Amino acid sequence: MPRETGPRDADSGTRYRLQCVMHEAEGTVAVREEIRFVNETGRCLSSLLLRTWLNAYREEETSPAALDELYDRAYPEGFSEGGILIQGVWWNGEIISSSYSDAENTMLWAEIGTLVPGEEGILTVHCVLRIPQCAWRTGRGEERWQLGNAFPILAVWDGESGAFRQDAYCPIGDPFVSECADYLVTVQLPDGWQCFGTAEMVRENGVFTGEARNVRDMALVFEKGDLFSETKENIQLVTNFDRNRREVYATAGEALRIYEKLWGKYPYRSLSIAAVSFAMGGMEYPCCVLIDETLTGDDLELTLAHEIAHQWFYAVTGSDQYCQAWQDEALCQWAVLCYVEERYGKDARNQLAIAYVGDPMREVLHAQVTAGSPIDRFSDYQDYHTAVYGRGCACLCALDLCLSGTLNDFLKNYCEEFAFRIATRKDFEELLYRFSGQDLSALTADYLDTIF
Ligand SMILES: [Zn+2]
Repeated sequence: MPRETGPRDADSGTRYRLQCVMHEAEGTVAVREEIRFVNETGRCLSSLLLRTWLNAYREEETSPAALDELYDRAYPEGFSEGGILIQGVWWNGEIISSSYSDAENTMLWAEIGTLVPGEEGILTVHCVLRIPQCAWRTGRGEERWQLGNAFPILAVWDGESGAFRQDAYCPIGDPFVSECADYLVTVQLPDGWQCFGTAEMVRENGVFTGEARNVRDMALVFEKGDLFSETKENIQLVTNFDRNRREVYATAGEALRIYEKLWGKYPYRSLSIAAVSFAMGGMEYPCCVLIDETLTGDDLELTLAHEIAHQWFYAVTGSDQYCQAWQDEALCQWAVLCYVEERYGKDARNQLAIAYVGDPMREVLHAQVTAGSPIDRFSDYQDYHTAVYGRGCACLCALDLCLSGTLNDFLKNYCEEFAFRIATRKDFEELLYRFSGQDLSALTADYLDTIF
């Protein structure tokens, strides 16, 4: 039976059209990007801010993949340059000027003249993406290219400060806060290549086309090998996993079943699970997860369960990943504990909780950071993991105790209330207060903000 309800159409809002052509020998993708922007900021705008994250890969000093501890895995052949070459920017068909405001060239300002509140226009960008030979969110190998955070994307408007957000591409954590939008994508690939990712791609006259509604980003994977698909819980799973495919289907099917039961329906029709060369292990995108192809056994299962949980906590219910990273990462660790308990019983959950929660509460951090610190405060990956994933998850376990085991009922309300939006920490805590009738702010401050 097909899914009865898809995500609501974001038709009145932002829409991206991406036309991509892969140039295999050059290691590049030519892109024509058209963005319909509706000014819902309440202010007159004279410029729009595009985040061009891929430019952080231009130099070793700024590349997110050049972390000391992972460098050799991320760049096995040595450093390889990535980036975006902007060929031109147009507003409603007229060429306009644009310029970068940061040293890394991740903030491209397009000068659009005057756009009053409620009015809309079409921003067109022609660019070439240089894909680095790199095992990271964006990277390419002989038989597979992954394009995560590779396309220029609109910055989020911050109503409080009355400006576009200008978050830096920190190497630790995921700085990519973005709003939901509709995407139409076409991809031209050389013979023998296929394409999958956030959009459900179909081949028509030699060109892959796809559509994704109400998603907050677009990740694509170009694959020279085979693609497989199987339907679980009425959701089409698409994957390039070959060797571990049965295991991947089983874990994904169980994770989707368990999470839907806890927090409500997965609102999309497909989920792509991409095995890629990826030194970090896993990364979430809407309707798509990237998983390190070398993972096996428990590592593969737990990473997959974590990344699929991000479909609820990040993809559908967005949060401020830059300032409150625990609000998606710790929730996904909590999700894995629930997954393990449902599938393998309470003893297995308790065993995993020692590593997920118990150990991080005992570890000594190198810097003065907490689970509630913004990601730019972290300079040590282990600290980030211990504080945000571990102590953040400990906070959720403590909340569950205070709520007599009903944290998941609260989270279901949270997912319903903030679906396709960005929930702030204040939103989370205010809803928690309404749900429980208790002021739990001392407890959350204790776990999330207290240095110990
Ligand atoms: Zn995560």
